[in-house]
Amino acid sequence: MAPVAGSVYHAAMPLYEFMCAKCGSRDEVFSRTMMAEVIPPPCKDAGSESGHEMRRIVSKFVRHKTLSDQIDEAEAKYGAEVDAAMGSAPDVGRYARRYESLAKDLPPD
Ligand SMILES: [Zn+2]
Repeated sequence: MAPVAGSVYHAAMPLYEFMCAKCGSRDEVFSRTMMAEVIPPPCKDAGSESGHEMRRIVSKFVRHKTLSDQIDEAEAKYGAEVDAAMGSAPDVGRYARRYESLAKDLPPD
């Protein structure tokens, strides 16, 4: 992994990243020393559900998230919700109808 800005900070304060094996929710934990055993944080999205097991994932310098990381994260959090709301294909028709009705409100030339 190439060094990035902020890596000195990470060396002084290691960051560990965890991801829930059940829902994909992520959390980060700072450790004061490199050697300390890092205890997984509880899943933020677990609520009263069981089976949300946080697992250590390889840190990708998360303070400098790539766009694809952010998309992955959003997908994990909202993907199912968006799919449910949109169906299998984007609802292009709805937008088309909206533009049509907006166009009607325009004053005639
Ligand atoms: Zn979870």
